Amino acid sequence: MPTLAEPTLTAPNPVDTAKAAYGLNLIGLPRAGLLETVAGLGVPAQQCKMRVSQLWRWMYNRGVTSFDQMSDLGKELRQQLNEGCNIERPSITTTLNSADGTIKWLLRLADGNEIEMVYIPDLDHGALCISSQVGCTLNCDFCHTGTMPLVRNLSAGEILGQFMLARDCLDDWPNPHGHRKISTIVMMGMGEPLLNYDNVSQALNIIMDSDGIALSRRSITLSTAGLVPAMERCGRDLRVNLAVSLHAVNDKVRDQLVPLNRKHPIKELIQACRDYPSANNSRRITFEYVMLQEVNDSLEDANELVRLLRGLPAKINLIPFNPWPGAPYQCSSNNRIRRFASILNDAGYSAPIRAPRGRDIMAACGQLKSASKKIRASQRLNS
Ligand code: SAH
Repeated sequence: MPTLAEPTLTAPNPVDTAKAAYGLNLIGLPRAGLLETVAGLGVPAQQCKMRVSQLWRWMYNRGVTSFDQMSDLGKELRQQLNEGCNIERPSITTTLNSADGTIKWLLRLADGNEIEMVYIPDLDHGALCISSQVGCTLNCDFCHTGTMPLVRNLSAGEILGQFMLARDCLDDWPNPHGHRKISTIVMMGMGEPLLNYDNVSQALNIIMDSDGIALSRRSITLSTAGLVPAMERCGRDLRVNLAVSLHAVNDKVRDQLVPLNRKHPIKELIQACRDYPSANNSRRITFEYVMLQEVNDSLEDANELVRLLRGLPAKINLIPFNPWPGAPYQCSSNNRIRRFASILNDAGYSAPIRAPRGRDIMAACGQLKSASKKIRASQRLNS
């Protein structure tokens, strides 16, 4: 294991945290909502469409952070927008930079709730992991987010605002033609994206819009714990890549790890994957499988996984369990993970073992948020 340098902790940016959100946030509004907004500001009907196109390009292609930068809008409209609207991103509470290049942000929303976002760079590109909910209702036994009490859906603007903020931080605007620092999005942060389908799809549709950010649906992966009824809708309307958090090969173990399984058991889930409309050999479904010592990591489990997935265009991501304080599980040994992978490989499946990234910055879901709560609680006790 390479030794990791001490992670650097950046203090909250006073400018970010001091900015109070006011008026209507335009981020995340579909074009129709923007049309209504500019019409409401008194823009003549015949100009509204053009103004919306201009706004759209400034917001989503250039990535500007203030209406004053929108030079072709006209002074009067800029002033009205300044008075009644904003294009605020979530604010940054904490930035953690890992020695391996991973960046993790704890973000604060306008109502004070906090969520996490992670950037994972690779050689010539990078993935951004964004959240879909504050907390999560699914209570997966090995996941730290499930232990958090507060849950609400993020709005489309809060989902999209995470992406826009990451581009601000990484200096990845205007919308680059070639090399982008954020080349893929994974909906694998806090929350279950299919339980917040409408807002997630509104945000992703804006991200995919060809006049704006223009990421392709192939660059976006949505991860679900297996909300079967919404999977079909996702495949039909959104058509992004699908990742399924399988984690176990029989209902007894999966009922324990992913309680949603009691509602939608493995057989039903695998059938929904077989029916997922855009799954084919060049766009395989990813099955996530967290490696938990002596829970789901035996050779029999691996063989059963091969049997379950037979005939499905699939690849399997083996995820070493990322432990958190008080977690009731341990990560499988490297040997056991390698043996598990080789059975899958021998059956013809790609089964990469996910390299732990950002271990020095508590990259397991939910850890940063609870650490920040603890620090604040101890600050209160000491003051
Ligand atoms: N609700 C969605 C997306 C959020 S979790 C889902 O369940 O797919 C993203 C992935 O991280 C899921 O596969 C989840 O099971 C996994 N995960 C959560 N906590 C983990 C941990 N401590 N170690 C390893 N993987 C974890």
